[in-house]
Amino acid sequence: MYDFDVLVLGSGPGGQKAAIAAAKLGRRVGVIERDNMIGGVCINTGTIPSKTLREAVLYLTGLSQREMYGQNYRVKEDITVADLAARTQHVIGREIDVIRNQLTRNRVSLLSGFGKFADPNTLTVTDSRGRESHASAAKVVIASGTRPARPSTVDFDERTIIDSDGIINLERVPRSMVVVGAGVIGIEYASMFAALGTKVTVVERRDRMLEFCDLEVIEALKYHLRDLAVTFRFGESVASVERYAEGAVAVLESGKKIAADTVMYSAGRQGTAPELELAAAGLSSDARGRLSVDEHFRTSVPHIYAVGDVIGFPALASTSMEQGRLAAHHACDEPARAMPALQPIGIYTIPEISFIGRTEDELTEAKVPFEVGMARYRELARGQIIGDSYGMLKLLVAPDDGRLLGVHIFGTGATELVHIGQAVMGCNGTVDYLVDAVFNYPTLAEAYKVAALDAMNKMRHLSRLQ
Ligand SMILES: Cc1cc2nc3c(=O)[nH]c(=O)nc-3n(C[C@H](O)[C@H](O)[C@H](O)COP(=O)(O)OP(=O)(O)OC[C@H]3O[C@@H](n4cnc5c(N)ncnc54)[C@H](O)[C@@H]3O)c2cc1C
Repeated sequence: MYDFDVLVLGSGPGGQKAAIAAAKLGRRVGVIERDNMIGGVCINTGTIPSKTLREAVLYLTGLSQREMYGQNYRVKEDITVADLAARTQHVIGREIDVIRNQLTRNRVSLLSGFGKFADPNTLTVTDSRGRESHASAAKVVIASGTRPARPSTVDFDERTIIDSDGIINLERVPRSMVVVGAGVIGIEYASMFAALGTKVTVVERRDRMLEFCDLEVIEALKYHLRDLAVTFRFGESVASVERYAEGAVAVLESGKKIAADTVMYSAGRQGTAPELELAAAGLSSDARGRLSVDEHFRTSVPHIYAVGDVIGFPALASTSMEQGRLAAHHACDEPARAMPALQPIGIYTIPEISFIGRTEDELTEAKVPFEVGMARYRELARGQIIGDSYGMLKLLVAPDDGRLLGVHIFGTGATELVHIGQAVMGCNGTVDYLVDAVFNYPTLAEAYKVAALDAMNKMRHLSRLQ
């Protein structure tokens, strides 16, 4: 009766995994995506370009080797945008190939163009030449993502005043940059450009940044960024941005003026749901262009699912993929477990941050007692070998039964290391497991044992006194 069993709108992480999962379950699947956006924001303008750029910056600046070879160590003296773009374009190209390949191998049809609802089971697809076609399906998964929110008062020109999508199209490495918004994306880019030698000023309306993270970790990050000449303007807002031939001036509400080659807005993202003619499907979006869903990722129209950034928090590629898989399983009547509550957060600043579980502040507010076990990279042989003297791993441990309540990591490999803590926590493991475990030596993973011993010793000391 329908062209497809499952039709997916958008080929970002959510849509892609939904399509593959449904195809693996033997369903006829189609994915609608614009010509030049296979892989979504994730591959083309977001996660992958930014993480590749970070890797290029770390390599070319030699930043992570300066502890060993001195503060003047550089792999390349004059780093150009072409140096950075070469690596980014290479990885984007490869990743697009991988996705195309996976879709083809699993017999997923790629419908090229912009999709909109014609009725609850039919989408109109308009290709880049304006030609229209229709595709119908029993189930639809919306994974149309978000775009950067742009204040209407700011005159973006893609050169001096840009949003985070514009970073990868910069013509040169700016000498100075104002980053508006100290969210994850803003701070990641601020740290990359600071490492390149750009003089960065971060303007943030709130008094803190990344307040969902461990306070001690954020203090350490701020210290490092200030060391790279980043200036923070917390509790300040940008009132206007003036554009000139040679750059821009950000005028703050307090009256301060900051001149910079580039002003980058990183002020949140707006859902793309309103562009989909939702009314034709009996749906509507919220003020931020997002859709609400139930625990199975069903919208208010039961055969239409939504996953990924278009449903809001946590808006990560990591979670979007799993949402896509779970939505597809539900749509195909395949039993699936619920999304685990325990999810890691990775922030690819320089240095990087990662955590899982709860923070000290959250536990204190909830009056949950905890003990802290700390390991510093400089006490680990691997830390010395790689020249990371600032890294740290912190375990938050329940004193009564030794369960891990949180793992917070700052420094080299944080986003990889966190998964050891995730596995222990996910299996209800205790700090005893980490105390007893033998780790490869010399590794950064050994930090778990050092931190576990630290927590254990503190708890033993307390119980002896009592
Ligand atoms: C700079 C930056 C860095 C990031 N870093 C990380 C990170 O390190 N780790 C992490 O986990 N996440 C990161 N994210 C977030 C991550 O990119 C998103 O969470 C993820 O891409 C969302 O996936 P999605 O499935 O919602 O689709 P998206 O990746 O948002 O893609 C949606 C796709 O839908 C298509 N589409 C939309 N409407 C239509 C339509 N009507 N017709 C046809 N196609 C349509 C778009 O063309 C697009 O390709 C980052 C984001 C940004 C911007």
